[in-house]
Amino acid sequence: HLRLLRELKGRSTETRDGRKIRLYANIGRPSDVTAALANDAEGIGLFRSEFLYLESEDWPTEEFQFEAYRQVARRMGDRPVIIRTLDIGADKRVGYFDLEHEDNPALGYRAIRICLTRPEIFRVQLRALLRASAYGNIAIMLPMITSVQEVRDAKRIIEETKEELRGEHIGFNEHIRMGIMIETPASVIMADELAAEADFFSIGTNDLTQYTLACDRQNPNLGRFADPHSPAVLRMIRMAVEAAHRHGIWCGICGELGADPSLTDLFLEIGIDELSVPPAGILPLRGAIRSSTVIRDSPVIRNGAPDPS
Ligand code: PEP
Ligand code: MG
Repeated sequence: HLRLLRELKGRSTETRDGRKIRLYANIGRPSDVTAALANDAEGIGLFRSEFLYLESEDWPTEEFQFEAYRQVARRMGDRPVIIRTLDIGADKRVGYFDLEHEDNPALGYRAIRICLTRPEIFRVQLRALLRASAYGNIAIMLPMITSVQEVRDAKRIIEETKEELRGEHIGFNEHIRMGIMIETPASVIMADELAAEADFFSIGTNDLTQYTLACDRQNPNLGRFADPHSPAVLRMIRMAVEAAHRHGIWCGICGELGADPSLTDLFLEIGIDELSVPPAGILPLRGAIRSSTVIRDSPVIRNGAPDPS
């Protein structure tokens, strides 16, 4: 079995009829890049940047974040590194951020909502991300999006931050890509409008399952009611992919469901372009994709291959 997996290293991830799927890694810490590379990740599809915040005693500085992002970008070379902006909230609490108690933290003040109402916090991260983009193939990804306005507001802050860096003669990738996490039902319903604002979609099936089925992802007692194989969730995934392709952008999955081998054929059939999974899941998925008999035409992606570069 191990030998079979080793034989998959260096191979392309494509179906038997030649359609390429990107297989990226999910990471939480810069040091996880070692495992991503050892398992032949073709990129980082989700860098959960909140670990930098959860493990700090105080707000992580621009310099600290810059070093972390740059290290990941450098080690990945040309390969894409998709960094998700801050996704803390009432369930992922940090001592130095005095968040009020909430009865329903999953429905509360978190992620992009914090970034848009406390732009001074967002700007520190954006400066670090943009500066690091000069050292590799970094893309920015926004979590918990529910409306077009949120994306426009975030883009405005990103543009202002770029302008600030230009004024200081600090280099960054002027063409940095910006993607949206599809993890709320609202974002699926608005997917056509959102696709027009973004370079790619990545579906967060953990939260999408929670919000679609009204099942708290932290509650272990919900059992079969919290089934991510529910047709409601799978239809949402299909709707997001179809909207992305109508607008010429690629769509991946970075939630846990992406690594579920019983769904690989379905995802290929739906037309998924990228799967981002924990490093250990990459080679088994590559094996499954290479032996899949699902046939499907490649979508036309406006920014080239399903790759944020
Ligand atoms: C998700 O919601 O599926 C996701 C990838 O993000 P997280 O698990 O970090 O909320
Ligand atoms: Mg999520």
